[in-house]
Amino acid sequence: MTRVFNFSAGPAALPTEVLEEARDQLLDYQCRGLSVMEMSHRSKEFIAIAEQAEADLRELLAVPDGYHVLFMQGGATLQFAAVPLNLLGEKSSADYVHTGSWASKAIAEARRFCEVRIIASSESENFSYVPEPDSWERSADAAYLHVTGNETIGGVEFHQYPDTGSIPLVADLSSTLLSRPIDVSQFGVIYSGAQKNIGPAGITVVLVREDLVGKPAAATPSMLDYAVQAKSGSMHNTPPTYSWYIAGLVFKWLKAQGGLEVMAERNRSKSSRLYSVVDASNFYRCPVRPADRSWMNVPFTLADPELDGRFVEQAKESGLLNLKGHRSVGGMRASLYNAVPEQAVTALIDFMQAFEADHA
Ligand SMILES: *Cc1c(COP(=O)(O)O)cnc(C)c1O
Repeated sequence: MTRVFNFSAGPAALPTEVLEEARDQLLDYQCRGLSVMEMSHRSKEFIAIAEQAEADLRELLAVPDGYHVLFMQGGATLQFAAVPLNLLGEKSSADYVHTGSWASKAIAEARRFCEVRIIASSESENFSYVPEPDSWERSADAAYLHVTGNETIGGVEFHQYPDTGSIPLVADLSSTLLSRPIDVSQFGVIYSGAQKNIGPAGITVVLVREDLVGKPAAATPSMLDYAVQAKSGSMHNTPPTYSWYIAGLVFKWLKAQGGLEVMAERNRSKSSRLYSVVDASNFYRCPVRPADRSWMNVPFTLADPELDGRFVEQAKESGLLNLKGHRSVGGMRASLYNAVPEQAVTALIDFMQAFEADHA
């Protein structure tokens, strides 16, 4: 069997070593005679898996004291609602930075619960950059300030975050969490669906500062109440146990690689090699401002869009999968998450140069 190079934006590639370990334990987890999938979430075996996953995640991200780490359900999309429900308190508005498709979705959902103030937007430039924090028209009375750390579709990423003072900074880091070290203490809430850089779909990591929980809106479903989830160890109901277990294997794998400093160096290198090839050619083009280009999702277009179909088809024949851009923007997109190796980028670059030579 040969495994392809998978550039999917999500659900995305998982480390082969993780899949092998899961395979070896599939029928019989540590001589217990059953699969993790078949265990009670209250069993001591599963509680140990869950606690280890949390401990490893805390270690990887150097989460300071005073933060809950929650493993929730419903993806980042349900957090679009959970954030206003938990954080509004007495307030009635929140500030949002509009950087692309995912920010749009977060904004639309928040509007069901509060007044959303768009304090900065790159929409007029087709979402090709991150608006400078100095230009944000912030409100003094916002319950929180929301950013989308990496626009998975547009390929626009925050490479640093501003100090928002007493107003909690909330970040959707679905496609960038664990790609590099971050300073968790800058954030009130970080949330991330798993299926990009963490593990299989079905589980959602939420980091929330302890002082921000416990004042949910009256109608908040208990499943979305951060205080309820924190108190129950993210087991208010049956959690997605298998996704949690695989995420734990990914955390262990990341530690074995040398942690997030090492991943950052690899991710910076993988993406910059690809951007260099795109920038050096008149055949490929990346629309994103260089300073704000994502390390995780590299969008590029072909000079002649008529060739898009052929590019995707021939790439697939070469073992390079899922390069088609999102249907909303067209072109190509290569997602280079942690589990995508350097060799995948090398193979993609070789393919792109050969394709250009044949078609330019
Ligand atoms: C994928 C993604 C989402 C949606 O995640 P779901 O888990 O499908 O809800 C939200 N925000 C960003 C930045 C994403 O990349």
